[in-house]
Amino acid sequence: LPVLLDDGAQEDDKQIGTIITLKNVTHFQEMNEAKTNFVAVVSHELKTPIASINMSLRLLEDERVGPLNEEQVDLIDSIRNDTNRMKRTTAELLDLSKIESGNIQLNSQPAHPSDLLDYAYETMVMQTDQKGIDIEIKCEEGLSAVKADMQKSVWVLVNLISNAVRYTPPGGQIVLKAADEPRAIRFSVTDNGKGIPEEYLGKIFQKYFQVYGDKNDNGGSGLGLSIAKEFINAQGGEIGVESELGKGSTFYFTLPKNRNSKKLNSYEA
Ligand code: ADP
Repeated sequence: LPVLLDDGAQEDDKQIGTIITLKNVTHFQEMNEAKTNFVAVVSHELKTPIASINMSLRLLEDERVGPLNEEQVDLIDSIRNDTNRMKRTTAELLDLSKIESGNIQLNSQPAHPSDLLDYAYETMVMQTDQKGIDIEIKCEEGLSAVKADMQKSVWVLVNLISNAVRYTPPGGQIVLKAADEPRAIRFSVTDNGKGIPEEYLGKIFQKYFQVYGDKNDNGGSGLGLSIAKEFINAQGGEIGVESELGKGSTFYFTLPKNRNSKKLNSYEA
């Protein structure tokens, strides 16, 4: 911070020194690391009891311990929904703690864009059917391969589709696309659901941010998009959103083209 000597005339302001503020951030770093470790341990420890609740639910559902009446079936449904929500949130917290401690490991390989879309479609088509939402793939022909961590990239697509399902009413439509760009392939998930107010577009990729708060966000944790951003950025891609309130949203991300993609599926004698 420069220190100026103000002797009345503004043109004559002279710098007579500099103030430097030193702050010891070790304490904050340690606290952050402790928090990240704590989150990792807790979310990991919760995985086993959640799995065992799910197993008990399955035994009940299969009527292995006796017949169920309608009310009991409804209760089991509701426990299953909450348990799945817990499972999702703990998995997201675990991912986030890995990211924050710098342990995000990529297993990048050449992958065809249509394979990524197909896997994500297969994973989500039952959910879209259940809600009466139409889902379709529009993949440009002849796209080059991308260099991608298949698991993480499909996770991102599935997360975007799962959001699209949550924020689109029955009868709506979701379109998955892959399109060519000079150095990358652009993937997108478009819905014609509730859309996002303009003032929140810059915030939704932040941790824990939810536009409508817990009650109206249908069981989300506000973590999905922040993890998606980390996964895409780590692979050298970019992620973004375009949305109009009441009309729908398009979430998109890019993945770099694989440089040696010509060698894919080719045979040299
Ligand atoms: P959540 O688990 O709450 O869905 P995300 O990080 O995935 O967390 O999303 C953050 C917020 O962005 C959501 O709570 C929601 O308000 C908004 N959002 C995400 N996707 C959509 C979408 N397709 N349509 C409308 N709003 C969305």
